This record gives sequence, structure tokens and C-alpha cells, in this order.
Amino acid sequence: MQIALNGATTMNADLETDIRAASESGFDCLEIWASKLGTFLKQHAASELNDLFRANKIKPYSINSIERISFRDPAGHQALLAECEDLCQIAEKIGCPYVVVVPSPLPDGINRAGVIDESRKVLTELSAVAAKYNVSLAFEFLGQPDCSVQTLSLANEIVSEVGRSNIGLVIDSFHFYAGGSTLESISDLDPSRLFIFHINDAEDLPREQLEDRHRLLPGLGILPLKQIADALKSIGYDGVASVEIFRPEYWARDPFDLARDARAAAERALGNNS
Ligand code: ZN
Repeated sequence: MQIALNGATTMNADLETDIRAASESGFDCLEIWASKLGTFLKQHAASELNDLFRANKIKPYSINSIERISFRDPAGHQALLAECEDLCQIAEKIGCPYVVVVPSPLPDGINRAGVIDESRKVLTELSAVAAKYNVSLAFEFLGQPDCSVQTLSLANEIVSEVGRSNIGLVIDSFHFYAGGSTLESISDLDPSRLFIFHINDAEDLPREQLEDRHRLLPGLGILPLKQIADALKSIGYDGVASVEIFRPEYWARDPFDLARDARAAAERALGNNS
């Protein structure tokens, strides 16, 4: 697997710093944090971003993320389509293959069938927007108890029902564990449907208490990363593993030092020699 740095890991650094830190640490790619992209593009053209990636010999892999895509009101839905259009247009300009999209919390009174129906409809519509720009959308389930799509098996069922080649999945090890996804649900996957693997660890807390801030560098916590990585390898997944951690304590660190530690930790967790 290639290794990426996700811009959430170095949340306080700007996009240019992320590109340089990821490059200097030997990452293959960067997942761009969307708000950093917005800040960058206020002062620079997309072509300058392209130049920056090229000069640092690193590839953009995704833009993270469009949040709460389902169960929006009509105005919110129109805003979603505009946001998707905007990010996919930029993604195409910089040669970035994926945009990450995230489901909403579960509204009262909606059952599993209702979640599948709504998610399928929204993703099908977004698929058409992204296709205009040759971009694919990576649907990331969240393990927290209030999310409408909490497990890999449900996310996979939705993406399979959409049945479009530019709609696939993200597995985030934190959400995989927090939401109680099973290793068997990885063996059910078509590896071409899995676009991104977010790799991170977590503190030893009950699943329902885990929050993003409890994430740790791979290898420092209690997540079954070896089993997850082995399951991914056994289905033939050879995409990107991206270090994505939302830990305020890490955000206070020097982003270059943190990126170096993040890459070494990811390589160790994946069993790569480097
Ligand atoms: Zn993630």
C-alpha cells in the first residue's frame, strides 16, 4: 500500500506546509483538508497548487471532506450539490482522484431501509456531478452512535446499490472499531470499491465513548490494526493507507516532526519495512 498523510493530522498547518511536510517525510500522497484548500485558493490559483505538488514530488489523493450529505432540507441539498461541483472542479484541475463524502446523523424515526434509500439517492445524484470532472467519491461511514451509517457492511450495501464506478468506500480504522464493524465485512468487499483506508489508533476506552480526539498514531493504542491491514491485503486492496488523526495534542507539535512520526508509525503498523 502507498502511504498518505491526511491534513487533519496536522490541522494547524496550512496546505503548503502539509505538502512540504508530507514530501519531506517520504509520504506518497496527501489527503487535502478542504478548509485549508479554501484558504489557499483565496490567494492562489489552482495551477499554483499543481506546481506545488509537482515541485514537492507528491500527489494529491483526495479532498476531505463533504460532511452530512444525507437528510438535508432542500436548501441544504442545493448547497451540497454546489459544494460537490466546486470541489470536484478543483480536484480535476489538480489531478486529485477522490473527494470524501460523509453521511449525516440518523434523524428520528428513520429505519435501516430509509437510510439506504436516502443515501443511495444522494450518492447517485452526487455521482453524476463528480462524473463531469472525472472524479470519484469515497463514502466514509462514521462509527459514532448517532451516525446514520455506522458500519462497513451498511456502507457497502449502500455503495453496491448505487452501482456507479465512481462511488466507493473509505474504511477508517477508528470508525471501523467504534461502530463495531467486523473483519468478515472486509472479506465481503470488492477491493475495487474501496478507495481509501484511513489508518489511526485509539485510546483504550469503551467504544461508545470514543471521540475523534482520542485517536492516536498507529501502534500506540488498542485498535486491531494488524488484523484490519491483513484483511485488506487478503482481498487484494492495494490502494492508499492514509494517516488521519484528530488529536489536539498532536496539532500543537511541529508538523514536520509529526509527519515523520506518522509515516514511520504507519509503515510499522502495515508491516512495511522502511
Ligand atoms: Zn477518516
